[in-house]
Amino acid sequence: MFIDSHCHLYSLSNIEDAILHARDAGVAKVVVVSEDLQTMEQTLKLRDDFPEFVLPSLGIHPVNVLYMSNSEWERAFSFLRLHANECSCIGEIGLDYKYATTEKEKEKQRAALHGQMEVAAENHLPINLHSRRALRQTMQEAVAFHKDTGLPTLLHWFAHSLKLLTRTNEEGIFVSAGPSILFSEDALSLAFAIDIQLILVETDAPVPFNGRPSYPAWVVEVAEKLVSHYPEKKLSKEKLLDNAQRYLKKP
Ligand SMILES: [Zn+2]
Repeated sequence: MFIDSHCHLYSLSNIEDAILHARDAGVAKVVVVSEDLQTMEQTLKLRDDFPEFVLPSLGIHPVNVLYMSNSEWERAFSFLRLHANECSCIGEIGLDYKYATTEKEKEKQRAALHGQMEVAAENHLPINLHSRRALRQTMQEAVAFHKDTGLPTLLHWFAHSLKLLTRTNEEGIFVSAGPSILFSEDALSLAFAIDIQLILVETDAPVPFNGRPSYPAWVVEVAEKLVSHYPEKKLSKEKLLDNAQRYLKKP
């Protein structure tokens, strides 16, 4: 049994087929992360339609944060606060310095991240973090949140730097490996630097890899590749499931 710890299920072209395919492949559940008001609503609808399969995660993505007016932000953030007690985690939240280039934009993302982290803390929920071109900064936010709250914290698709992974391991931060390990030896060997207690698997579906859109069943291939190549055969599918359950466990 597998859990996809980061997936944008509402963006797939045929959601029902993707779910059937995933279940057939052995995927028990997916964490559906959202990006704005519309996708938060879609995520809760998916939870209603597929309650056994969908673990809803509500959040406002750092790229969307940049393009929202104050009133749009208020509406989305109010929705998040109102429905936080119905979800499994808060995300996809974080920092994205590919899009936030000025100090003002970076500050806007940080303020949005901190507001959403507070909602997670109040509701005792784990967080699901995005960190594009802001690896160190997002990691520092993750460490501070985890230290302050003791809540499980995931840096999704974070395995880019050995040095930063040493720190996330020391601090007890979860890191997920995704389909990039199927196509890149470097990505695969970096994934082996994630502590065996802290490694999760994800697809970020439908983000394309190697020219093909990903889908939740792909998490099985990711898990199998990790397990079969992991040094000294230390990692098992059961361990990956246990890690995901610890990440999602309610205190
Ligand atoms: Zn994502």
